[in-house]
Amino acid sequence: MIKFFYSKYELTPLTAIGALAEAINRHGALIKAVWPNGMVGYADLFPWVELGDENLDKQLEALAEQRLTAIGEQTLWMAKRDAQWREKKINAHVGTAKVKNHYLLNDYAKASEVLLREIRGSPFTTIKLKVGRNLEEEALFVAKLIKQLPFAIRLDFNAKCTYPEYEKFMMSLSSGERARIEYVEDPMPWNLENWKKASGFAPLALDAEYDKVDWKVKETPFRYLIIKPARQDVDKAVMRADQRALKMSVTSAMDHPVGIAHASIVAAEIKKTYPNMLVDCGLLTMRAYKANDFANKMIVQGPFISSINGYGIGFDELLNEQKWTPISSVQK
Ligand code: MG
Repeated sequence: MIKFFYSKYELTPLTAIGALAEAINRHGALIKAVWPNGMVGYADLFPWVELGDENLDKQLEALAEQRLTAIGEQTLWMAKRDAQWREKKINAHVGTAKVKNHYLLNDYAKASEVLLREIRGSPFTTIKLKVGRNLEEEALFVAKLIKQLPFAIRLDFNAKCTYPEYEKFMMSLSSGERARIEYVEDPMPWNLENWKKASGFAPLALDAEYDKVDWKVKETPFRYLIIKPARQDVDKAVMRADQRALKMSVTSAMDHPVGIAHASIVAAEIKKTYPNMLVDCGLLTMRAYKANDFANKMIVQGPFISSINGYGIGFDELLNEQKWTPISSVQK
């Protein structure tokens, strides 16, 4: 039997996280898994109740019963990968393919002229903007971004639009402006017909609506697949992307740097196998929160996470310093 331990943490967002969540503290837990042969691996467990996950305490209860929730399964998968690297004394970030990331703007209202100038002068070439809370103002802001930044633009609505709202938003941009949009992520709740119509304005990317898609249907009105190793079976998602020639972008689940480190390694692996199918990723999400000790240990150069010292996913000292509570003692 695998023994699990946890260490709870809080992340403090610097702004609202698009249409998904207000700027309130978010709760997760680092998980330490110990196998009967002594192997030890670490991963993150970070539920999004907004996306239908059970809350953290319920997730820990499930682990205490050795029962795997959807995200718990990914946590265990990642902990096992980490344990295997640690066993071989390998740093999994070393010698991997370099993965470029987009710049993430969670709240357009917080984007000052100074910040936009800074982004323009940075080595980023892609920017992702979370939208879906104030469509009229956001459309104006997108037009401004397109004018001011020579970047590829990504929009993420977190499925908060109806089709008519989406149509209105896109029609308020000129066709030249729309052509600057690399993709629009989850414009509205999944519906084949609506997504087909929506794909006429700009290419679409499938993210959180992934589980609703009937993969037996041949037609896919999206050209990009967002892969979140914390929330999805990676091999299955990559296979689906491969079969349909979808481009892929790996992102964190806006989780703890331990989750980001895992996602970063998955992205590098996909880049190695599919160098032309992996587009800029979304891994620099620690910047959406007040920096913690883990975020401070990540070595970031421009749009790249270049390394994290230690074995496996890294962070050895910080992981050793955590107060680990056996999961068997979770109170129900
Ligand atoms: Mg998304």
